[in-house]
Amino acid sequence: LGGTTVIMSSVFGKVNRCPAECNLVLLGAMGSGKSALTVKFLTRRFIGEYDPYLDDIYSSEEVVDRQPVTVRVMDTCDKEGPVNSERYLSWANAFLVVYSIDNMESFKGCQLYLQTLALNNKTFSPQTPIILLGNKLDMDRYRQVSQSDARAVASRFGCLFFEVSACLDFLPVQRVFYEAVRRSRQA
Ligand code: GDP
Ligand code: MG
Repeated sequence: LGGTTVIMSSVFGKVNRCPAECNLVLLGAMGSGKSALTVKFLTRRFIGEYDPYLDDIYSSEEVVDRQPVTVRVMDTCDKEGPVNSERYLSWANAFLVVYSIDNMESFKGCQLYLQTLALNNKTFSPQTPIILLGNKLDMDRYRQVSQSDARAVASRFGCLFFEVSACLDFLPVQRVFYEAVRRSRQA
């Protein structure tokens, strides 16, 4: 029986039909809130400051649609936009491309990531889902990126689009991460 389990998991792991694991990668400009969102998802808390040069992978046991899944989150920290993308391109089961709604530069930065992913998606795994994620919704009064502009970019690149805040409620943040898991199961 033990042997069967091992074979099954290795087969499913390769074809990735119904993965009990999901690798999420957060991309985006520095300061957009990738680390804050990662920490929020993992701990339900907002922690304002951490090392901005940390590029790390966290793991969490979750249950999405009643199916247990090990979610791994790679919180990247590119200083120069999409460079060294090989480190996550084939690893990822889904991408969260993050910008800050109060920062137009971060939104432009997102589009560089989306272009990189679009180029890669043709050659590797055609349906790796991508979520365009506007963060810092609590800063709505300083908004520089309209929802309609973000929606237009999302539809151009075939991604989903959400807005959240890492320092407001936990559930909307969890919902976005869970949606990424859900989409990766369908891919
Ligand atoms: P990263 O470089 O993308 O990892 O960004 P960080 O997670 O380090 O966040 C950059 C800065 O924005 C920090 O000072 C955070 O406290 C702040 N921040 C992150 N998320 C939010 C948010 O949702 N709302 C507000 N107001 N600040 C945030
Ligand atoms: Mg960070």
